[in-house]
Amino acid sequence: MAQETQNHTLSVSGWAAYDSNPIPSNAGGENGVNDVTIEVLYCGICHTDLHYAKNEWGITMHEITGVVIKVGCNAGKFKIGDRVGVGCLAASCLKCEFCADSQENYCDQMQFTYNGIFWDGSITYGGYSNVIVADYRYVVRIPENLPMDSVAPLLCAGITVFSPLKDNGMLGSPGKKMGVVGLGGLGHVAVKFGKAFGHHVTVLSTSPSKETEAKGRLGADDFIVSTNSQQMQAGKRSLDFILDTVSAQHSLGPILELLKVDGTLVTVGAPDQPLELPPFPLIFGKRSVKGSMTGGMRDTQEMMDLCGKHNITCDVEVIAPDTINEAMDRLAKNDVRYRFVIDIAGRISNI
Ligand code: NAP
Ligand code: ZN
Repeated sequence: MAQETQNHTLSVSGWAAYDSNPIPSNAGGENGVNDVTIEVLYCGICHTDLHYAKNEWGITMHEITGVVIKVGCNAGKFKIGDRVGVGCLAASCLKCEFCADSQENYCDQMQFTYNGIFWDGSITYGGYSNVIVADYRYVVRIPENLPMDSVAPLLCAGITVFSPLKDNGMLGSPGKKMGVVGLGGLGHVAVKFGKAFGHHVTVLSTSPSKETEAKGRLGADDFIVSTNSQQMQAGKRSLDFILDTVSAQHSLGPILELLKVDGTLVTVGAPDQPLELPPFPLIFGKRSVKGSMTGGMRDTQEMMDLCGKHNITCDVEVIAPDTINEAMDRLAKNDVRYRFVIDIAGRISNI
């Protein structure tokens, strides 16, 4: 990673760990020449945070919005007071073919905003604190017309679904039949993007109770209950492209049957157990299964700007920092419409 990236000696208030009560972490960073220091306003809770908390892998929060309060001398594209966002990425080598193409997320030296380790051995702690120091190359601008709370989840959920849509020809080519599996934090943004990009969107869900709002507020065209074999049968060979956002182990077999011949399924869900991938639906339909991990910085800014243009934000439930354990429990029970966002600074979103 870029060796001038400097970090982690500033003390700030923060919180860490979710299986126990939140405890102060006092983690942050000194503002280096390439850094901006950001007062954190909001931080979304991604299901990845829950995977990490359950497995005691550490601190993760990575859907951060805030306001710039300090600017390093090389970070002049930002100024104090700018509304900005930070997602999963904290550092990369800035030299390899992927970095050169703004696919920093696939750089083999990439470090996450959370649990990342910098070249100097310091550790990244994510956005669950009141201040974060970030290299300006991994910071995006937030359009003025979008509120800071409901934008926060775009920094991970949004870019994670935008990137595979773009990579697979779903941007700028309307009229495709698109499926979204799992109507959660990632899935509900995927539905909004699919509609904004002019596609016919079918939601595949295990929750019949989500049908009304999927077709109503979110604008989906069709809704299939994935545990209903008749509905699944009726949907066979109907879709060009499927985005699978499910957080739990499941079989891809029945879902692949919904793809047309030569169709593509991209999985972004990251269950900690392997997915079942029976060969026949692949072979008989010449279908492809791919993965995708978050997105690069150029695409993240492009997504943000498109969200500004189409007025796309996430459906969020804003919570206070001291209710995070309850929120995590509800997230584990699939009881959120569709993202919890922590009000880190304790203010109403009016900036
Ligand atoms: P989420 O809000 O909890 O949504 C996941 C959805 O999956 C649920 O709303 C539910 O939708 C469905 N689901 C849950 N349990 C299920 C089960 N047992 N069987 C079938 N469906 C089930 O989670 P999220 O924040 O959107 O994240 C989704 C996944 O993506 C997580 O595994 C997360 O770690 C991963 N992720 C990956 C990336 C990446 O870069 N690839 C980035 C961010 C997150 P229905 O009620 O509609 O069935
Ligand atoms: Zn995430």
